[in-house]
This record gives sequence, C-alpha cells and structure tokens, in this order.
Amino acid sequence: MSGNFSRSSAPKEMTFADQREWMVRHQLEAWGIADGRVLDAMRRVPRELFVPGEQQEDAYYDGALPIAEGQTISQPYVVATMTEALRLGGREKVLEIGTGSGYQTAVLSLLAAQVFTVERIALLARQAQETLARFGADNVRFRVGDGSLGWPEHAPYDAILVTCAAPAVPQPLVQQLADGGRLIVPVGPRGYQDLVRVRRHGAATTEERLSPVAFVPLIGEHGW
Ligand code: SAM
Repeated sequence: MSGNFSRSSAPKEMTFADQREWMVRHQLEAWGIADGRVLDAMRRVPRELFVPGEQQEDAYYDGALPIAEGQTISQPYVVATMTEALRLGGREKVLEIGTGSGYQTAVLSLLAAQVFTVERIALLARQAQETLARFGADNVRFRVGDGSLGWPEHAPYDAILVTCAAPAVPQPLVQQLADGGRLIVPVGPRGYQDLVRVRRHGAATTEERLSPVAFVPLIGEHGW
C-alpha cells in the first residue's frame, strides 16, 4: 500500500527513536497531519518492531514495506491520514479490517478504548498478536476470518478502518457503525483507489472522497 506523496527516509545513522521523531516532523507534520493525538501516537509506536528483520533498517522509509504472505505494512503517512480521518477522542470502540503487521493496530490502540481487528491470513494474525503483546497493547482483540463481513458480535462500532481495498463500500461494515460512527475504506479498482469516509447519522449515511491511495485487495464476500 502507498500514497502519492513524499518518499524520503530518515537518516540511518540516527537511532530508531530519532528516526521516528524525524518521520513525524518531515513525513507527517510537513505533509499536513495536524491532529496532536495522532502525531503523539505515531511518536510512540516503534515501526521497527513491526517490519520483518531484514527490513528493519528501512523502518523509517516513508513507503509501504513487504511483510510475510505477499502483504505490506502501510506507509506511515497513510496510517496517519486514515487515523486522523477517524477523529478519535479516546473513548471509542474501533474495528480494523486487515491487521497485517499490527502497526496500524498499535496506533489505534493508543487512541481508542477498545480495538477489534480482523485478518484473513492466520500467520499474520498470530505474528501481529505476538508483536502487539511485546508493544504492550492490552485493549486489542484479534480474529482470523473474512473482515468484509465485519465482526457483528461486537457491533456497533464508533469507528471502522479498512486497510485493504474494496471494489465498493462493504455494506455489512456500514450496518455495524454506531450512530455518529465513521468508516474509512479505500474504494476503487485494483492498483489505485480513493480513500472514502462514510458517516452514519441515524438511518442515513453520507459519503466523502478524501485522497488517492493504492492498497492490496480486500479478499472476501464483500470484497474481491
Ligand atoms: N494495516 C496493516 C499494517 O499496518 O501492517 C497493513 C495491512 S495490509 C495493507 C492489508 C491486510 O488486509 C493484509 O494483511 C491482508 O491479508 C488483509 N486482508 C485482505 N482481505 C481481508 C479480509 N477479507 N479480511 C481481513 N483481512 C483481509
């Protein structure tokens, strides 16, 4: 997954902590991320924990990086953009579809009360669970399955974030939004999509297109 923005890398002679601070200033604030809580969470999550060993020295490259099973850890700028678009205040119940490495999950765990995350590939879910335990997240619940169906047992959610691309907004996710809830999902053909925000107001919903992105596909009943 990637966005169409900067492709810089923090200077590798810096410590990981300094590279992370560099990332926040040069790859996030400089590109318009303004929510102080999101920036603080991005400062607190060590991306090097979530990338495979051989990629660790590139942990602060501002792009997606490969993880196991042909999947990717998302670009920090896109993680920050999607998280900011959810407008989290700290008390929310959040559903994430596409756990991947668990990096985005870690950011959400610092910004919401509870995070439910669904991944279709069991190996990735297991590895992410181990990494998030090492990170110290204790408010995350994991499920292996088709996230295009959501996780109805725990609905409704104040916020839902989909980290893989759907051909159309998956309706089960809209149905699992609480009143006032926000859903962020990349929608469009394979290769390039628009980030879409759906908001529920009672029985009605509104939809906005936010920015262009390129994500791996959502594979499932309400995906590809
Ligand atoms: N946010 C993740 C991170 O920070 O590492 C990156 C996620 S990666 C771009 C997208 C993930 O969505 C992949 O791990 C893929 O296996 C998963 N995925 C695809 N279709 C899915 C589905 N129907 N249900 C759950 N996960 C799915």
